[in-house]
Amino acid sequence: MLMIDGMLGEGGGQILRTSLALSLVTGKPFIIKDIRAGRKKPGLMRQHLTCVSAAVKVGNAAVEGANIGSQSLKFEPGAINPGSYRFAIGTAGSCTLVLQAILPALLIAGGPSEVILEGGTHNPYAPPFDFLDQAFLGIINKMGPVVSASLIRPGFYPAGGGKFKVEIHPSPLEKMDLTRRGEILNKTAKAFVANLPEKIAAREIKIVRKLLGWENCEVMNVPDSHGPGNVLTLTVESENITEVFTGFGVKGVTAETVAKRCVGRVKSYLAADVPVGKYLADQLLIPLAMAGAGTFITQPPSRHTMTNIEIVKQFLDLNISCTEMDDHRWQISIGN
Ligand code: AMP
Repeated sequence: MLMIDGMLGEGGGQILRTSLALSLVTGKPFIIKDIRAGRKKPGLMRQHLTCVSAAVKVGNAAVEGANIGSQSLKFEPGAINPGSYRFAIGTAGSCTLVLQAILPALLIAGGPSEVILEGGTHNPYAPPFDFLDQAFLGIINKMGPVVSASLIRPGFYPAGGGKFKVEIHPSPLEKMDLTRRGEILNKTAKAFVANLPEKIAAREIKIVRKLLGWENCEVMNVPDSHGPGNVLTLTVESENITEVFTGFGVKGVTAETVAKRCVGRVKSYLAADVPVGKYLADQLLIPLAMAGAGTFITQPPSRHTMTNIEIVKQFLDLNISCTEMDDHRWQISIGN
């Protein structure tokens, strides 16, 4: 039985999600202790519990300790069960994070799956739907499986009520090297508002045009959201990879500041001249580890990336090296 330390490194929900995902993929049971022990509200929250119950269903697993606030969990996976699933978080908790726990198993399952997720689709501190769709699934679709995601209704914090569907046609994952970004093909800005004045999005776009000079910019009013929300997404589509940067409108922060911060993230990505941005880096570790090998060049690794490396190494017997190339670029190699 693998023993996972929930307080390792970054010490957040990612340790749990990566453990669930790799337990399903490898068939190895685990016990995790001190789940989110250092957080303000420690233990399992609704979103984490939805990850656990989704993993139980997808992997015919036995589980102990799956309740709100629980700081330890025992998880024993069975066979992976492809099929049609619907998981509703019941709060504005992030749907894309729930998908992180089950998608790896469904990518290599014995048949296709369709998953509907309900909750938050555009949450701060989680992959927004557009990032999932274009950045993460963009790479997965180059590794063998065919996966498509469609947004049914966006859900923002705190109202939630969002919904998206993912269709998965599995295949063994092929090794992937992402060492060059290649030519930039498209740069697109989209500013969304839901139940808020459109001029907020227009002000964000004005800053993007001024600071980045991008021409392909759009203001979008989301008609059927359950609550208010404002999101700016800046997408850089290059020959070898698409990266998506997100700014979230927050009460008390001007639209100009939201846009400037988001532009800053794009500028530092472009200046680093790397293919893989900081969020994609921690997320790509799992499919690359499942493929058994891969190399990518990225910005200085986050604590999420370093923590995920440690968890991956506990489930899979792989070498993972992180080498600093210069102040802005690191190479991460798996299995070499
Ligand atoms: P945790 O903090 O443990 O719940 O993990 C958060 C996850 O969300 C990590 O996999 C991050 O890479 C991902 N994430 C957070 N913010 C973003 C963002 N703006 N774009 C894409 N992924 C994100």
